[in-house]
Amino acid sequence: MVCPFCGSGRVTTRQFGKRLGCTVGGVAGALSGASAALSCGEIGACAGVLAGPAGIAIGGVAGALLGGLAGAAVGCMAGEESGEVFDGRVFHTHSCEECGHSFTL
Ligand SMILES: [Zn+2]
Repeated sequence: MVCPFCGSGRVTTRQFGKRLGCTVGGVAGALSGASAALSCGEIGACAGVLAGPAGIAIGGVAGALLGGLAGAAVGCMAGEESGEVFDGRVFHTHSCEECGHSFTL
């Protein structure tokens, strides 16, 4: 692959839309996952009551953590899918390290 502007071979793939989609989707997914897990966490906390005060804290935190992580992973994947659509259409897919030009092949 060669830069169409200066002919340099130092061209990198950007996938800007894909990365942006992953970040945005991941954050949104983590938030919705964590908030959805608050009800989940409450169930965990209820189960934790049997194990005492420490169990309540562990149950709630673990539930929110797991929900947030799962939400972030799913959100990132979904975001990548939609972000990929913009790569090559809205965002340039490649950039030249030599002259700094961005372009789409
Ligand atoms: Zn160049």
